[in-house]
Amino acid sequence: GVSIRSASKLYGDLTVLNAITLDIEPGEFVSLLGPSGSGKTTLLGILGGFVLPSSGSVWVGGRDITYMPPHKRDIGIVFQSYALFPHMTVSENVAFPLRARRRPKSSWPKKVRDALEMVELGGYEDRRISQLSGGQRQRVALARAMVFEPKLILMDEPLSALDKQLRESMQIELRQLHKRLGATIVYVTHDQREALTMSDRVAILNKGRLVQIGAPDQLYDHPEDSFVASFIGEAT
Ligand code: ATP
Repeated sequence: GVSIRSASKLYGDLTVLNAITLDIEPGEFVSLLGPSGSGKTTLLGILGGFVLPSSGSVWVGGRDITYMPPHKRDIGIVFQSYALFPHMTVSENVAFPLRARRRPKSSWPKKVRDALEMVELGGYEDRRISQLSGGQRQRVALARAMVFEPKLILMDEPLSALDKQLRESMQIELRQLHKRLGATIVYVTHDQREALTMSDRVAILNKGRLVQIGAPDQLYDHPEDSFVASFIGEAT
């Protein structure tokens, strides 16, 4: 599992994360939900290794990875803006993490094909990113995040650039994909409905603090405080 122990982040005098402790079970889908500026992306950055905590630690599979550089972590990442290389082909994009991790080149084609099949883009290997729709690009980004079979995948508002209809169908796809993969997913969103429909558990952040973590129905039925009650209430 993944364990964040009393992680804080300060920028000068500003406390962006305040002693966050969070344990995530292997295979769980956990959302980080909170208003703008609550610290969701910073917490994801600490898991991914892009942000160093001011104090506290991060453990994965019983190993302290707090200071391990991102490319050494066994973690797939899907950003909001996909961050694909538009001039490269689909398979070149998906193979990129295998290159970065120096996996043997002979293993790339099969891994790339398998990842693309997973997201139902079999046969799109030689297309250029610039020729794909928004939903297809999002699927390429997903394939790239899982091509090296990471146990943990981090997602930061991966569907926010899509229109409502596509977003809702991608939510269902992502849920199904999560079940097939069995990977742990940590998913950042500010959309209450999205978090509540997709996640096993939802961690609610407010002003850098973890206010409550629980299953969706638990948050509905037993909100910890008035902030959680009204914030969750906005989804209905
Ligand atoms: P959003 O939903 O708007 O993306 P968020 O919950 O992901 O917000 P963060 O991006 O983690 O929030 O930011 C939390 C706070 O930290 C904000 O007040 C932000 O301005 C501040 N912050 C983030 N990065 C830096 C930085 N490099 N230097 C200074 N302040 C920062």
